[in-house]
Amino acid sequence: MNNKLIIAGPCTFGSYEELYKNASMLKERGIEYLRAGTFKMRTSPDSFQGLRDEGLEMLLKIKEELGLKIVTELTSIEQVKKYGSKIDIIQIGARNMYNYELLKEVGRLNTPVLLKRAFTATYNEWINAAEYIKREGNTNIILCERGIRSFSDETRNVLDLQAVPYIHKNTNYKIIVDPSHASGLAYMVEDMSKAAIAANCDGLLIEVHYDPKSSLCDSKQTIDFETLDKIIEYIKKEN
Ligand code: PEP
Ligand code: MN
Repeated sequence: MNNKLIIAGPCTFGSYEELYKNASMLKERGIEYLRAGTFKMRTSPDSFQGLRDEGLEMLLKIKEELGLKIVTELTSIEQVKKYGSKIDIIQIGARNMYNYELLKEVGRLNTPVLLKRAFTATYNEWINAAEYIKREGNTNIILCERGIRSFSDETRNVLDLQAVPYIHKNTNYKIIVDPSHASGLAYMVEDMSKAAIAANCDGLLIEVHYDPKSSLCDSKQTIDFETLDKIIEYIKKEN
């Protein structure tokens, strides 16, 4: 999408058919990076944990079949060893930003790493986490601002757009913005995506599903494809 990295997809999926339908709808729109989680870091152990290894194999099959690039979260050293070189971008989730042994493990590969900011992390802690990856040799790191925790509970988190100019001024990293986890509310995603583009971010990570309310995880913040089309239009116009 011009010079912006657009990564999109459902938070997770429960079947190959569901994944395939979402993936084809992204492909139709010219989106190259499919993001879907199979090893989910859920707050409650009672929540759906993802299809795990079975889901990862489905993602690799989609990559084969549709030629999309795969972005997915890996949560353990074992998973990184098994899948780290097979996927296109390894996501390190907010909850694992401080997991230094995991960071070092992805640092030993050449696969690009999408490093999400922990919801309590200062810029400095986040940049240091990236440094753990870089020290091992992997310099292909993209930072992702996904909202920080505040006193307000009307939204899931608060989108800290100041991270974008800060990271650009003080580091050489690219920074993308995830408006979905930041607000936790689908109706805010379009406006916050536009705001992030206006702040000159390097891309967006957006949760989208052909039927958001049926999504097995993060349904309240998941947008439909009609809304995604409006965001894509905006990006094309602004760049
Ligand atoms: C996700 O991307 O679905 C996710 C769990 O994000 P975060 O690690 O930012 O909470
Ligand atoms: Mn999610």
